[in-house]
Amino acid sequence: MQVMTVTGPIAAEELGRTLVHEHIVIGLPGEELDPNSRPDRREIVAIAVDKLQELKTHGVGTIVDPCAIEMGRDPELYAEVSERSGVRVVFATGLFFEDSGIPQYWRVRSEEEIAELYLHELENGVGNTGLRPGIIKAATGAQITPLERKVLTAAAMAQREAQCAIITHTEHSRHGEVQQAIFAENGADLTRVMIGHQDEQSSWEEIARLADRGTFVAIDRVGYDILAPDDRRADYVAALVAAGYTRQLCLSQDCICTLKSPRLPFAMPPGVSMTPAEFLSGNRPLSYVVTEFSDKLRERGVTDEDLDVIFDQNPRRLLTGVA
Ligand SMILES: [Zn+2]
Repeated sequence: MQVMTVTGPIAAEELGRTLVHEHIVIGLPGEELDPNSRPDRREIVAIAVDKLQELKTHGVGTIVDPCAIEMGRDPELYAEVSERSGVRVVFATGLFFEDSGIPQYWRVRSEEEIAELYLHELENGVGNTGLRPGIIKAATGAQITPLERKVLTAAAMAQREAQCAIITHTEHSRHGEVQQAIFAENGADLTRVMIGHQDEQSSWEEIARLADRGTFVAIDRVGYDILAPDDRRADYVAALVAAGYTRQLCLSQDCICTLKSPRLPFAMPPGVSMTPAEFLSGNRPLSYVVTEFSDKLRERGVTDEDLDVIFDQNPRRLLTGVA
């Protein structure tokens, strides 16, 4: 079974240790209009190569960058970063959620037309680049809107045909069960779906309930103290492992190697204000989840075999459909 990376298809066994949700760069539509906007492509590549090389020294072979289509996705830049760092990159097709994305042209398209876009990219590549996404990104906001339902339906339709993974964004860990229901109603394979951003759930049992419906579940914002403390994340992971959910659990950081914008392009929690530099310098090394955070898990009884399942086997099953 093969996996499509930005530099071409590889065998499942070549994936190696994999982080399922990290970003090389994020850019929001409109930020290029900011008079202070001067993105430097060479610098963006250099920073990302540095960060991915650091990750590689800790045994990680692949990252999935599930950047939505309209959030500054740049396959040619990913290919350059992947070739220079030696870390494989799987990237996404798929639109973001209504409050933060979905360009007007696509808002008025039918679910069939959106699915057609996703399938075209999956099969032929993005634009004229020939670079093919390996997964579909899907996302919902704090309240799920009719537009988001349409876009999720399109994701399910495309996944059914392309037989690839869907990786989701949830706001504040909410509505994963609605995402699952929309995917199931539209014939998606739930065993190839990862419900993301479960870091803010009020208990590990809520995450277990999602896993009981057959998808992967992800605590994939490790290190973001402004969302949740890592000790609580580690408690959740240990509890899920002890309760037998290891084979459905994925871990990642949602790290952004660099931002193109001169000002922070997304809303912070009330009372928190940061520049892009402050936001990024708060990011730990990309290896944090497989080093310090994994040590927190070991202290709580998670074994190295469990970590192999979480960082090796689960991403492989998610991305290829086979164990
Ligand atoms: Zn993300």
